Amino acid sequence: MMAETPLMSQYKEIKSQYTDSILLFRLGDFYEMFFEDAVIASKELGLTLTSRNREKGYEVPLAGVPYHSVASYIAKLVAKGHKVAICDQVEDSKSSKGIVKREVTRVITPGTIIDTDFLDEKSNNYLMGIKISDNIGALAYIDITTGEFKTSEIVGEDILFRLLGEINKIAPKEIVLDEKTYDNYIDEFKKHNSLSEIKFTKSVERKKAEEYLKNYFNVISLESFGMKNRKEAITVSALVLEYVVDLQKGKELPITNISYVSSENVMELNITTQSNLDIVDNQREKSGAGTLLWVMDNCMTSMGSRLLKKFLKNPLLDVEKIKARQRDVSFFIENVLLREEIREKLKDTYDIERIIGKLILETENGRDLIALKTSIKSSLEIFKLLKGNPLFEIDVKALVEMYNMIEKAIVDEPPFSVREGGVIKSGYNSDLDELHGISKDGKDYILEIENRERERTGIKGLKIKYNKVFGYFIEVTKANSALVPEDYIRKQTLANAERYIVADLKEYEEKVLNAKERIESLEYHLFKELTAEIKKYREELQNLAYKVAYLDVITDFAHIAVKNSYIQPEINDGDEIEIIAGRHPVVEKLIPAGEFVKNNIVFDDKREIIILTGPNMSGKSTYMKQTALIIIMAHIGSYVPANYAKIGLVDKIFTRVGASDDLLTGQSTFMLEMSEVANIVNSATKKSFIILDEIGRGTSTFDGISIATAITEYIHEKIGAKTIFATHYHELTQLEDKLEKAENFRIEVKEDDKEIIFLREIVKGGADKSYGIEVARLAGLPKEILDRSKSILKRLEERKEIVEKNLGGEQLLLFGNMAPKEEETQCKKEALKGKELTKEQKIVMRVLDEIEPDKLTPLEALLKLNELKKILNGS
Ligand code: ADP
Ligand code: MG
Repeated sequence: MMAETPLMSQYKEIKSQYTDSILLFRLGDFYEMFFEDAVIASKELGLTLTSRNREKGYEVPLAGVPYHSVASYIAKLVAKGHKVAICDQVEDSKSSKGIVKREVTRVITPGTIIDTDFLDEKSNNYLMGIKISDNIGALAYIDITTGEFKTSEIVGEDILFRLLGEINKIAPKEIVLDEKTYDNYIDEFKKHNSLSEIKFTKSVERKKAEEYLKNYFNVISLESFGMKNRKEAITVSALVLEYVVDLQKGKELPITNISYVSSENVMELNITTQSNLDIVDNQREKSGAGTLLWVMDNCMTSMGSRLLKKFLKNPLLDVEKIKARQRDVSFFIENVLLREEIREKLKDTYDIERIIGKLILETENGRDLIALKTSIKSSLEIFKLLKGNPLFEIDVKALVEMYNMIEKAIVDEPPFSVREGGVIKSGYNSDLDELHGISKDGKDYILEIENRERERTGIKGLKIKYNKVFGYFIEVTKANSALVPEDYIRKQTLANAERYIVADLKEYEEKVLNAKERIESLEYHLFKELTAEIKKYREELQNLAYKVAYLDVITDFAHIAVKNSYIQPEINDGDEIEIIAGRHPVVEKLIPAGEFVKNNIVFDDKREIIILTGPNMSGKSTYMKQTALIIIMAHIGSYVPANYAKIGLVDKIFTRVGASDDLLTGQSTFMLEMSEVANIVNSATKKSFIILDEIGRGTSTFDGISIATAITEYIHEKIGAKTIFATHYHELTQLEDKLEKAENFRIEVKEDDKEIIFLREIVKGGADKSYGIEVARLAGLPKEILDRSKSILKRLEERKEIVEKNLGGEQLLLFGNMAPKEEETQCKKEALKGKELTKEQKIVMRVLDEIEPDKLTPLEALLKLNELKKILNGS
């Protein structure tokens, strides 16, 4: 076997340090991939796989991409879950002897993409770190395109479940776990469908995390970041930060601080609630259509859209802060013209936040500076329009300085590349102007040579042309080559032309090319000098970015409030909620205008639980969700779809949607339901709002009613949270008599000529029968089946009356007063009467005997019931 080329040895040496990445190796105008990397890349990117060194006896698979379009290929590889290492030439090939020195200059993973052209502008690109230890879950997340860095801790019960809620809110592209967390929890994380697109990375935890952070931020204590004594938050923050810093190979990052976010200041919305309510993401539609965000996001800038998302995921729990936002919104509702003018100006405001990121990551180009200039201009105009309103306090002086700097230096339409000149205006730098002069003179002189040679040779078609290989040359057609003088030096022969040079042509060429090269490097230098100056204004720019984003969201709130006829809700610390003529903000948009039926809702000290009955499709879910959405909108400072609303602060919203309405699969529905209900009853407080939508559906009617009853009782007695309980089991309406603060409501339907008309109006009182059969008819079931089920229903109802009489009106609440399924009970009775008990029945008897009901919580009792049932069913 032949010896390896020096280049291959260099490649292998570098690759050996990046075995987990696809290595893009810069060779001239290409980034090449070799061996296994080439095979993978050719598949993932659809490149042709070639090979190198075949003639030397060993073959190296090879695939390459042009350097100028490498970003799009990197984006594709990363999107497919690969880690990509970029290996560049780190010395000038001209000045080096032998092989050019190469180094990996950056490693890119899904959470650390810096090329913003390939990112969704309305979303942040977060990298998240998670560490779970005994009873603390710590998390930290970074967006390296904007420099945002936050951390938080979750303490207490259900850590994993609550972490899932946070992950869902933050929506990271990649999650880094320390070794222990990875080993213990990766399977747990991978189980969840909603996390399937996130890349999980294992990383080594650093020992002196606090020192590391203090060093990085150059502070004496982490107290100012709110992280004092937050040991786990500190550890996980150091973990993600170090991960990012390592991948950037020591390059500067736009991260200047970190802040601890306390979950106590925001409304808790767990993962189920976030998805059931379709706040930002839609369970069914990837596009996000049909979400609350979709209705509310009419923002003019991507910074505004990103901030709105954050608002929606973190509703405030501070009356004063909410009122402050409301005041800002009402200002723009009153000042219509001003609002429209500002929104118009916001249109011209680019993504300042990401431009700062680019400046610091050094991926900026001339166009970014022009975008910044334009944004500064529109911001200054907005400032003028607002006449010093504290809403938009910005550093005018600094902005004007920056504006002038860019205006003076950068041409209005710079090229994409900053290495090829054409970026800097004339008059900005005298050396540059001189070089341009030389270049221009040289070009003029070359034109003169062309004229001179035409005259001298008499060849009319003689032309001076330029290409990258030969530089300037004289081209003469074959027909005229006899006229070429002696002193012409032939360089190239084409099919019907000859190319020559002459002495003074080369002399001027040198001047021109020399000047061109020097222009390019001087321009690059001047450009970098300018961006270094602008970088100094990072804080002013970050402040501006936030102010623009906030203004965008606030004017958006005003805009949609007017457009959709929303009103300002009254927010207070109390426990009452009153919504008059409320609407579902999304559903009202999806049905013909004006067809949405408005409804009221009142919770006060006499009414905490609403039991809502009504046939399928009558509007129960819509009514409950609209209440939750109005509450959320009110807590972010927005106006709400209603005629009047008074909202006492709500600390948490929980939703549990019964089996057939939800998309979760796999786990036994009953167990899933129970564990979610367990979470609700464990975490809810008096200030919470709970939606229970047809729970108990995943099991038999009998079980369903028992569970529903027990849970409602528990919430009523022990928690006092505001709860709407929707059911189509009209049996549950009995709870009203039993529970002091529970009340029945139903959705009005009109039965007309054996047909149901949905009126969608919520009225007091329970439904007096279940409507399942009617709905079946609507769904097109044959008449025989319907008639038969009606007669069964009738019999069941008669039987129920008898049972009730026998019980003397006393009801075992846990079991409701549902008539058991006829046939089934019949057989069971027979089995118990006289006949030998089955093995399963014996077990159940024994277990029942051992149970001490006084010592069980209602939930434990339910789970026990389920267990017993399973034994009986032999599963
Ligand atoms: P349920 O939960 O009772 O089965 P839904 O809440 O899912 O019923 O409502 C079914 C459909 O009825 C909704 O998709 C919507 O189109 C319509 N709907 C619900 N409430 C209203 C209303 N207040 N006004 C107009 N249409 C409504
Ligand atoms: Mg429903």
